[in-house]
Amino acid sequence: MEPRGILFVMTGASGVGKDTIRHAAVPALGDVYYSISATTRPRRASEQHGREYYFHDRATFEGMIRADALLEHAEYVGDFYGTPTAAVDAALAMGRDVLLETELVGARQVKAKRPHAVMLFIAPPSLAELERRLRGRGTDDEVKIQKRLVRARDEIRAVREFEYVVVNDVLDDAVRTFQAVIRAERARSARLDDRQVAAILRED
Ligand code: 5GP
Repeated sequence: MEPRGILFVMTGASGVGKDTIRHAAVPALGDVYYSISATTRPRRASEQHGREYYFHDRATFEGMIRADALLEHAEYVGDFYGTPTAAVDAALAMGRDVLLETELVGARQVKAKRPHAVMLFIAPPSLAELERRLRGRGTDDEVKIQKRLVRARDEIRAVREFEYVVVNDVLDDAVRTFQAVIRAERARSARLDDRQVAAILRED
């Protein structure tokens, strides 16, 4: 059997720094396929269709749900977000590790469907600091900031459902911890197949 990639799920409140950690951490980790989510949220000025998200209207998104094309999906502060299944499975089948980002509801769906998925939670040092970061970002109006903070509190309360937690206080430390999690998971002896053990046993 060909080796399959590892599925990593990263969850954490918006504004906590998931993208910053990912961009800083992934280049040193070799081949990691980042799954680009679909969303009905309006595109921000800094975002591009197909780079941060696939931006779709509601009808298109609902069509993807009906076609069972999403590994998970959830509603978040008035919009839908979901992970297209096909690209994730294609990457895993090629032996590539896959990283996807979902909020809590989606993370639970992934774990239910793929029990081997490695669940990673990115936490702020405090809710007060998260609020400062969300305001500093300036991408959401006050109502949305409040809704995102309510959601963040609920997610943080569920942190023990995740195998790992990375607190994003000092960015460099968070990046190193994130990398350590990926490397440790790759190093699990249970992931070795017979051929790999045989290769290590070679004496010539
Ligand atoms: P934002 O609007 O700030 O980009 O994202 C809002 C929330 O949606 C964040 O918590 C983010 O992690 C989550 N999110 C992003 N992509 C997905 C996805 O594919 N599925 C789910 N369930 N949540 C997602």
